Amino acid sequence: MEKVSRVATPLVIGNWKMNGMLAASGKLTRELVALLAEHATCEVVVCPPFTALLSVAGVLSAAKIRLGAQNGYPAEKGAFTGEVSMPMLRDLGCDYVLVGHSERRQHLGEDDGFIARKVRAAVESGLTPVLCVGESRAVRAAGESERHVLRQIELGLELLPSEASFVVAYEPVWAIGTSLAASAQDASAVLAAVKAWLCKERGIREQAFRLLYGGSVTPENIAEFTAQSEIDGALVGGASLSAETFAAVVVGAARGYLCTSK
Ligand code: PEP
Repeated sequence: MEKVSRVATPLVIGNWKMNGMLAASGKLTRELVALLAEHATCEVVVCPPFTALLSVAGVLSAAKIRLGAQNGYPAEKGAFTGEVSMPMLRDLGCDYVLVGHSERRQHLGEDDGFIARKVRAAVESGLTPVLCVGESRAVRAAGESERHVLRQIELGLELLPSEASFVVAYEPVWAIGTSLAASAQDASAVLAAVKAWLCKERGIREQAFRLLYGGSVTPENIAEFTAQSEIDGALVGGASLSAETFAAVVVGAARGYLCTSK
């Protein structure tokens, strides 16, 4: 039975985090472009650090791989020393921007109100925001994962302009960088609740959003996630730092997406 999906192809986003000097970023991008040249069944995005965005954009210009940023500031311009605005990211060639990654919530003190402003600023600048949400181990142990994630989404999307396209990445904090991925069934259950909330509570069309899983995704486990009917792709950290591994994740994502979990 063919999977009935909201979009034709899965979306796989590589988050390079704070890794890669210019030479290494250029090499990784060139290798990825070569490995994925013939692969048209997945939308692929890479999110290098700010310092490499321009050079990576140059390498990607003739390729199908899209560019994303890992963060952006919610004001257009002005006295915000050290920050980078959403229009600046768009100007560099970005199509996507990560918003509310758990590492920024945890280490940089970003709260839901600030994240909501970033989501709005991203959309207003022509970027697709990737709103990252996910529960801690303690919240999970208390059986509160779904409630926690829905609350983060409610607050994070509070200022979302109507008709905007966006992505939600469900990334349990305990699964990020730990080799302890969530089970595909658990991730799917949370994302089913997210989808129901977005459509029924917020009245958002299914076509306006995509739902990703993130947290210790590998070439070995990716197909299990994308075979779930509620999962449209993945946000990938560690496994996106090697072109071969990331390309294998992309191929696996497309393979899983063609299957049905039923
Ligand atoms: C991430 O940082 O968004 C992430 C999912 O990391 P990893 O794949 O390394 O768990």
